[in-house]
Amino acid sequence: MADKRDYYEVLGVSKTATDEEIKKAYRKLAKQYHPDLNPGNKEAEAKFKEAGEAYEVLGDKEKRAKYDQFGHAAFDPNMGGGYGGAGFDFGGMDFGDIFSSIFGGGFSGGGRRNGPQRGADLKAYLELTFEEAAFGCKKTLSITKNVPCDECEATGSKSRTSTTCQTCHGTGQVKVTQSTMFGAFQNVRTCEKCGGTGKIITDPCGSCGGKGFVKKAVKTEVQIPGGIDDGQTLSLSGQGEPGKNGGPAGDLLVAVRVKKHSVLKREGFDIFSEATISFTQAALGDEVKVTTLDGEVSMSIPAGTQPGVSFKLKGKGTEKLRGSGRGDQYVKINVAVPKKLNEKQRELLQQLKVSFGETGTIKNVTEKKPFWKK
Ligand SMILES: [Zn+2]
Ligand SMILES: [Zn+2]
Repeated sequence: MADKRDYYEVLGVSKTATDEEIKKAYRKLAKQYHPDLNPGNKEAEAKFKEAGEAYEVLGDKEKRAKYDQFGHAAFDPNMGGGYGGAGFDFGGMDFGDIFSSIFGGGFSGGGRRNGPQRGADLKAYLELTFEEAAFGCKKTLSITKNVPCDECEATGSKSRTSTTCQTCHGTGQVKVTQSTMFGAFQNVRTCEKCGGTGKIITDPCGSCGGKGFVKKAVKTEVQIPGGIDDGQTLSLSGQGEPGKNGGPAGDLLVAVRVKKHSVLKREGFDIFSEATISFTQAALGDEVKVTTLDGEVSMSIPAGTQPGVSFKLKGKGTEKLRGSGRGDQYVKINVAVPKKLNEKQRELLQQLKVSFGETGTIKNVTEKKPFWKK
């Protein structure tokens, strides 16, 4: 607020200026800096806004009196007092409302509505199996979108001819003069007669109704990269709706769902699974079969394997999205303790119990960690 210019200075009037002089000064500035007359000019836009702000205060008797007494602090919520901490008071309207009510064109101004327009983005959903997501695949999607009409070669006309629009003389835009309390302003609008094309079709094509394009299901081949995960979206540039007036096509956004696997789980590019072995396999070591993305593979269990440890199968994860190589698979070992024993097993285990002692030897084994574990 401190570096705000004095409102009288902004409007270029004296502190004793009459209401009429203030109004006249604002009208002149608003005309000079109006966004529609200065498209894309940020400085003009700022000046236009500044003038509007100044006039909002100086054009109102009560606010002007407050301003004369307290200056900008009258409207600064941080300074207390003044306008009840409500900040700059626009009487319930924001700048956009004020300017659109005055000029009818909104505050954005400047943009040519019939200039090149980018086509809309399209959305599609794709469900992949766990393996398809891990390794990537090719999928064909059927996308319904606007395509040039074959019947009329996208001209929209049976005879493939058109006449120049008389309303806009082929420019696609018309100037609209608006009278406001601040004087007359010219706005540029899209020609309604021809929809901004500048052309009039007198014999509309029966196939597309004169639009030059038709909705059609288009087969689109999509290369799904390996390593994509559930919830991710693929953006296919230029595969959306075609642009207007020479603008670029939009994108096709493909939201990916990945089906669950019965055994394997995934986190990032790594795969997690579990294997249950018997306590004798754990104690003596063995070879077991485990499910991986590449099918069943043999994994060796070292003697003295403890329940809960995980073994790494290097390179058995998914492909790495935007990278090379694959993640790893981690197999967590569960050790099953038999619930029922026959006479012979019981006898052998009793002998084992004697030879181990109660717990001693088992404890030593607990401390042994697989060398590949971090
Ligand atoms: Zn057609
Ligand atoms: Zn026209």
